[in-house]
Parts: sequence; C-alpha cells; structure tokens
Amino acid sequence: MLTGANVVLPTGTVKNGTVAIDGTRIAGAPLADAAVLDVSGHWLVPGFVDLHNHGGGGASFSGTAEQILTAIRTHRAHGTTTLVASTVTDEMDLLVRQAGLLSELAEQGDIAGIHFEGPFISPCRKGAHSEALLRHPEPAEVRKLIDAARGQARMLTLAAELPGGIDSVRLLAEHGVIAAIGHTDATYEQTVDAIEAGATVATHLFNAMPALGHRTPGPVAALLEDERVTVELINDGTHLHPAALELAFHHAGADRVAFITDAMDAAGIGDGRYMLGPLEVEVSEGVARLVEGGSIAGSTLTLDRAFKRAVTVDRLPVEHAVKALSANPARLLGLSDRVGSLEPGKDADLVLLDADFDVRGVMRHGEWVVAPQLG
Ligand SMILES: [Zn+2]
Repeated sequence: MLTGANVVLPTGTVKNGTVAIDGTRIAGAPLADAAVLDVSGHWLVPGFVDLHNHGGGGASFSGTAEQILTAIRTHRAHGTTTLVASTVTDEMDLLVRQAGLLSELAEQGDIAGIHFEGPFISPCRKGAHSEALLRHPEPAEVRKLIDAARGQARMLTLAAELPGGIDSVRLLAEHGVIAAIGHTDATYEQTVDAIEAGATVATHLFNAMPALGHRTPGPVAALLEDERVTVELINDGTHLHPAALELAFHHAGADRVAFITDAMDAAGIGDGRYMLGPLEVEVSEGVARLVEGGSIAGSTLTLDRAFKRAVTVDRLPVEHAVKALSANPARLLGLSDRVGSLEPGKDADLVLLDADFDVRGVMRHGEWVVAPQLG
C-alpha cells in the first residue's frame, strides 16, 4: 500500500491518497496486513503509454531481440510501462522480418504492438527517412506489413495523398490498425478525405507536414478540428514552440492529445553518433540530426521529461498531462481496461514523482522497475 501521495485519478487529484496493490493489479480497497510505504509529498500517476518510439539506451526497435529489450528497459526506467515499437523506412523484406521479431515480443507482453512509420510517406516530408526506399501506399504493400505483424500491428503512418493512400486508410481501418496521417504533403481537403476514410491519428502534429497557412490550412487544421482524431505531440522543447503546443491543446482539448517521444537510440544516453534505420545521426546537446542534410531525426526524449515539461514549462494541469501521457494513448490502443489510469482492477503500473516531478520510482505489473527512492 502506498499512502500519503497526491494520487491523480480520472476524476481528479486525491490529496493524501492511498493506492493499494494486490499482486499485479490495483486493489479496490485497502488490504488488511499489507506492507505500507509512506510516500507523502510525492505524486502517484499512471504508468506512461508511448505510441511512437524508435529506441533508447543505445539500441533501436529495428535491431535484434536483445537490443529491443535494452530500449524497452531504458524507457521503463523513465516511467513508460506500455510502449508501441516504431520502425523506420527500410527495404520491405527487412521490415517484414522485423515485424516478425517484434510480433514475438508483443505476444510475450514486452511491447504493446508495432507502429510502422514509413515507407509509405511523402518524399517532400521525408524527415529522417531514406528517400530511395520510400514507396506509394498501395494496399497490397500495406497488407504485407499488416500480415507480417501477425495481429500486432497497432498503427501505420502514411501520406494519404499518395496513390493508393485513401484505399490503404480504409484497409487499415478494416483491420483494426490505426491509420496515422504523417510525413505528408497533403492539402486540407486531402486530409479531410483521409479522416473520412478512417484515419484517427496525426503523427507528430506540425512536424513533417506543411505549416498552417491562412489560405492553405493544410493537414494541421484538418487534424486539429476533427473530434475523431488524436494528435501526437513531441514535447521536448525542440520539435515544437511552446505556443504551438498550447494551440494544439486549446483546439483539440486535453482528451485528444497524446505526448510521444519519437525517441531514437540516444534517448537515455546522450550525445554521439547513432544510426536511425539505414541513416547516420549526430546527437549534439540532446538534439538528433541527420549527418547528411541536417534534418531533425527523432528525439532523445523520455516521457518523464515530457511530463515534467508539461507541468512546469507549459503549465498544464497535472490531470491534463496524465491524460496526454497515459489515458488518451491507452484508450486509442484499446487498452483502457488494463492501463492508463490508477483504477481498481487495472494493472499496477505507476510512476512515483517527487515534488519537482522527477521520477522516484516506477512500478510495472506490481513490481518495482525502479525501486522507490524517498527523502
Ligand atoms: Zn518516428
């Protein structure tokens, strides 16, 4: 039993609250003769859910099983207890092989599924994706990745304005895979069509898409205005101006925003040379850029930093930050019955934060991943 904390629940924050844990789950009532840990002066929030993450700890989700587990452990230590593994553009046969490996880890419960980012994206907005390997989102090609993931494909980012794009959005929706609009050069109208066809996520809104213009409102306006769409935001202080983040929150509302890391290998480590799929990346002062061309190449963010920034720099209410980091992505993934809030019966996945919102403990499935450090 954890007592004395500010416990953030869907209904609001309970001061001097208690969270009881029974095995791997959150218990409904305080347990008789349970061990009690007084965590007064701390916050208890649900474990973070990352929809979009390429790696960390020097390893990537495009690597071997061992490297994938290193990346998972790195992000868990920063409070991410549920994570969707993202691939980057590569040869189709390599992506098919990687999907097989990732699907095994998803079946074991290590990850919550696979997000394919590329190769079905726009060469105009390729970001840190290899241009030579981009292709049109022909449904038959998209289908190859869905099949290779053996039921573990959760999301696929595509530029729906490319040939085959709208049909692929429909195909994804039919298979229960989230169609995410991103790395796109679409107009406002083309984006509206994609949403009508079933797209429900904006991949890192603002980044890798045309800017909001008063005569060319583009994807940003279409994605922000539609209540069916959840917008991903990379809240690292580099990818977005704080005013852009505020604008997104204001228009989408706290229930339609998901903070993601879009992290690459350097997350949880630091500056140096890394690979992002087939491309070389230089990380300097925490900002990852392609060696060739200088595009921003993912982030070195962990979700605990996104949380701290949200409540200290962006001045969001803690309850809104919890929605963006846990409840909303959990709902989007269809996992709300298990994760995303500190309610009885759900997995005992939680993050213990001190008064400065730094991580002091992480629990997953009732076990401490980071043992509580109090005082
Ligand atoms: Zn990404």
